[in-house]
Amino acid sequence: MPGAFKTEAVVLRSIRYGEADRILHLYSPSRGRLGAIAKGSRRPRSRFGGRLEPFFRLDMVLHQGRGELATVTSAHTIAAHANLRASGAALGAAARACDAVLRLLDAEQANPAAYNLLCRYLALLDGQESPAGDGAGDGATGLGPALAFRLKLALAAGFAPELGSCARCGEADGIRGFSGAAGGVVCGACERGSFELSPEAHRFLVEALGRPLADAPGASELAFRQAERAISETLEHHAHVRLRAAA
Ligand SMILES: [Zn+2]
Repeated sequence: MPGAFKTEAVVLRSIRYGEADRILHLYSPSRGRLGAIAKGSRRPRSRFGGRLEPFFRLDMVLHQGRGELATVTSAHTIAAHANLRASGAALGAAARACDAVLRLLDAEQANPAAYNLLCRYLALLDGQESPAGDGAGDGATGLGPALAFRLKLALAAGFAPELGSCARCGEADGIRGFSGAAGGVVCGACERGSFELSPEAHRFLVEALGRPLADAPGASELAFRQAERAISETLEHHAHVRLRAAA
């Protein structure tokens, strides 16, 4: 649909282009992934200022012409996430989150749940919801929130693993392992081709899906690794996407 349109969006990636332009990979609530060009945005007195950088949440007006890329007409900051930018750990976590969105949600398709999840995670990494409301979101840069984000993103994309009962036979008791091919936890009788999933890792996955992101559960390093492997193998088998390591 050609013409101008307004949308909110998060900048996932910002690439220098030509002498003074930028190409942006955006994620929006109403249209999903969008590609856009911001002409003249790298000139010193550009009206866009420094707003077209990754992790900015913006109110935008874009113009869709005949080409693949929309043109940025205006961009106003909703959230700059300045605290996030001041913390190496938070920047790394935010970059991995945007990369996961880029890989897993490649279609131009509305997915407000995925958009809200991304905004929520960036706000957490920015420290906006820390009890003191002050930090650089260091409490949110751990593996617990990072894996909870991935799992919820998998759910929003339609690839959540089966966690309630054996993904092969439906048995609820005697869960022993996890199988990416089967798409979930498996019982002792169906464990061929699976890897061991400890009760702690299983519990982490269930609680991470059930709780708000700000309240993501903790776990041991081993349980985190098993949970990460469960999410990764589910997405490799069913979404054909390979994510970067979570930390
Ligand atoms: Zn089974």
